[in-house]
Amino acid sequence: MSLPTDFTLDADGWCAAARRVPSPNCDDRSAGSALDLLIIHNISLPPGEFGGDCIEALFCNRLDYTAHPYFEQLRPLRVSAHFLVRRDGSLLQFVPTLRRAWHAGASTFAGRSHCNDFSIGIEMEGTDTQPFEPAQYRTLVGLSLALQARHALAAVVGHEHVAPGRKTDPGPFFDWQAYRNACLRAHFRRAPTACADTLPRFAGDTPTA
Ligand SMILES: [Zn+2]
Repeated sequence: MSLPTDFTLDADGWCAAARRVPSPNCDDRSAGSALDLLIIHNISLPPGEFGGDCIEALFCNRLDYTAHPYFEQLRPLRVSAHFLVRRDGSLLQFVPTLRRAWHAGASTFAGRSHCNDFSIGIEMEGTDTQPFEPAQYRTLVGLSLALQARHALAAVVGHEHVAPGRKTDPGPFFDWQAYRNACLRAHFRRAPTACADTLPRFAGDTPTA
């Protein structure tokens, strides 16, 4: 994997390099609540098709629900994520990280429910049935490092890990090992004296206790 992209976040948690598409589907986080979990998802609209603007339309409540038979079931949804990584690696942002996006639904992590309260959500444009693009990992790694620097994440997991039995994304083709290793390499390249303890735990990490 080539070098990840460098990203920075402003005081509110907007990423300057992302195309900003503000979503109304968000609200304030509770005062004093933790923000220490990164959740990876996948999405494609219509399912299995890439490109177009249906994902951002869904997150902004302006999807044409008559344009595809699958879309009718999405009509009642009010959902969003903080970020979307397109197949070409380009980055969109819908919600600043300091606000709560509506991406995880009913979910639990390490005994804490309502993961939206304390997490950031990144959608990878993709499906459960095919590999993600190298350009997507490059963007994801760079963004993950920027989020880590800003928010001191404790863990990175998939939606499938916090909503097992209900959600399957990002799915078996998401390469956790390559993603984790690229994050580690980039982390130490930027800060050779850094401690691995300053990195979050990744889904699939072997428990040390
Ligand atoms: Zn998801």
